[in-house]
Amino acid sequence: MTSSAAVVQDQFLKVLSREEAVARFRAALRLLPLGAETVGLDHLAGRTLAATVAAPVDAPPFDRSVVDGFAVRAVDVAEASETGPAWLALNDETIACGTEPRLAVSSGHATPIATGGPIPRGADAVVMIEHTRFEPDRGLAVTRPVGPGQNIAFAGSDIARGETLLRRGTLIGAREIGMLAAVGADSASVWRKPRVAVISTGDELVPPGAPLRPAAIYDSNGPIVAAALEENGCVAVRFGAVPDDAALLEAAIREAHSTCDAVILSGGTSKGAGDLTYRMVGMLGQPGIVAHGVALKPGKPLCLAVCDGKPVVILPGFPTSAMFTFHDIVAPVLRILAGLPERPEVTVETRVPVRIPSDLGRTEFVMVALSRDAEGTVAFPVGKGSGAVTAFSQADGFLTIDALAEALPAGSAASVTLFAPHVALPALSIAGSHCVGLDAVISLLADKGITARSLALGSLGGLAALKRGECDIAPIHLLDPASGLYNTPFLGPSMRLVPGWRRMQGLVHRHGDSRFAGAASPAEAVAAALADADCLMVNRNQGAGTRVLIDGLLAGRQPPGYWNQPRSHNAVVAAIAQGRADWGVAIAPAAVAVGLAFIPLAEEHYDFAVPREPSSPAVALFEAAVGEAGEALRELGFTPASGG
Ligand code: AMP
Ligand code: MG
Repeated sequence: MTSSAAVVQDQFLKVLSREEAVARFRAALRLLPLGAETVGLDHLAGRTLAATVAAPVDAPPFDRSVVDGFAVRAVDVAEASETGPAWLALNDETIACGTEPRLAVSSGHATPIATGGPIPRGADAVVMIEHTRFEPDRGLAVTRPVGPGQNIAFAGSDIARGETLLRRGTLIGAREIGMLAAVGADSASVWRKPRVAVISTGDELVPPGAPLRPAAIYDSNGPIVAAALEENGCVAVRFGAVPDDAALLEAAIREAHSTCDAVILSGGTSKGAGDLTYRMVGMLGQPGIVAHGVALKPGKPLCLAVCDGKPVVILPGFPTSAMFTFHDIVAPVLRILAGLPERPEVTVETRVPVRIPSDLGRTEFVMVALSRDAEGTVAFPVGKGSGAVTAFSQADGFLTIDALAEALPAGSAASVTLFAPHVALPALSIAGSHCVGLDAVISLLADKGITARSLALGSLGGLAALKRGECDIAPIHLLDPASGLYNTPFLGPSMRLVPGWRRMQGLVHRHGDSRFAGAASPAEAVAAALADADCLMVNRNQGAGTRVLIDGLLAGRQPPGYWNQPRSHNAVVAAIAQGRADWGVAIAPAAVAVGLAFIPLAEEHYDFAVPREPSSPAVALFEAAVGEAGEALRELGFTPASGG
């Protein structure tokens, strides 16, 4: 009791290897399915059989015809032919499906029978109706012979009573449900789904759907973990987001632990002042925390515990970290408790065109987007750090960098584990600078059934990928300060430019900021800003086209805020709208979207570099779509360049 916090912090300092952490976690658990339950036929899809099912009856239960025709004695028609038919007398009954025969078939006789009808006593074959004709005065003419047993399915030929129908461990789908129904089973014994509590922690969390208050973020881990649990045969029991409050957290964790089979928390694993979660978990039951700090990237703050036989896990707060650690370490254990087989992994061999730096001593997962060049499949890293959720939408899978490697050199071969069961490469691979206008063009293409994916590599990254043949189109907006020209000076010899659109850039400030009241031009606005030592600017990163414009306005001066250099227009307008800065330079659509004042400065050219030859059909369609998107682009606040 006295030093539990100190003990826990000790453990956090001792970062374990991935393998060691997994071994300790598994050793503390009883790795068996939790138990069986009987579930009705209509709710069996997706469940796993806990016991082998033997057929309780024969299927089919009686000998039955598999064609429409006549039940006969084979010997009566053995010599039948088109020219010399066998003549038979018809019995006075017709055997439909579900009709029990009354009359035996004796020598020289036949009984009409439908597909599925029970074979009458005495008959040993069925002649297809196509091989007969009926003459009212002579009877039935059979024009082809049949062998004994022909066109009959015998009782138990599908499955005989007592034979194994389905084995324990089988994942039940429509086919298995059909088999159970065919032998009359209306339920089956399946493994019980573990009930797993999902608790997000953090004062900053707001549930999706509610308004976002200042400094708050949406709870993504709760929905992510709940969905991942369902995908892995568990029932998610949602506890919502709990603030970093000792009493509230303790109450939630204790209730979750006592009412569920496992508890998955997220957030609060680091040593920040508000991070209480791991202390609570440490006090919950024996043996308690078995690993706190695992040499994984992302995912180092992962905390694994077993409390009175139940797994209790604290995933890292960052959603991508939470997702990777869940799938790598937690899901395999929960699948065992759910009685599910290991998740099948699909991998694809690729080449990595760019160097990926990595931390020595940590197993590193890197999300990648796949593309194709002349030699095969290439994998681009797309993670923007452990905080990026959007990487998931761009990534096709991930690769793993060994703990002992310092980097994956450019050109390395790498095996990529796919998120989906197969690779679906987009028809058009776009890499470079991103713009909301591009989304409008991509939507137009999507409506025509052409898939395109845009990777945000920046203008220069896009040009490099295009030069190596790893993408089809590179969107760029680069200003050459020497010539004052956009984009054309940056094209390689084998590239041409598809004109895109213009984005008006301007000086941005909050409406009603009296310091800018009289300023009609950007130069006057900058002069006004420089006159007030409290007026904070927000700059742009070196290399951005916008930065060239800012440098021109400032002419060597470095006012307060100069070193705040975010990488996007959205970050600039967010800083000004939220009062963290007072002025900056951004494009009009971004400024207008958050209700800021805008003084026009210069037009930025956003165009597309494409290979000069050969022009692929997909690129031609893209060019056409840029033209067609004119209206949509204007609505977004852009000016189409239209051929110029
Ligand atoms: P923590 O481990 O609590 O310090 O969280 C690390 C980071 O992850 C912080 O930026 C948190 O705001 C963020 N985070 C924690 N929980 C969630 C969640 N449920 N959804 C989205 N982000 C989260
Ligand atoms: Mg937190």
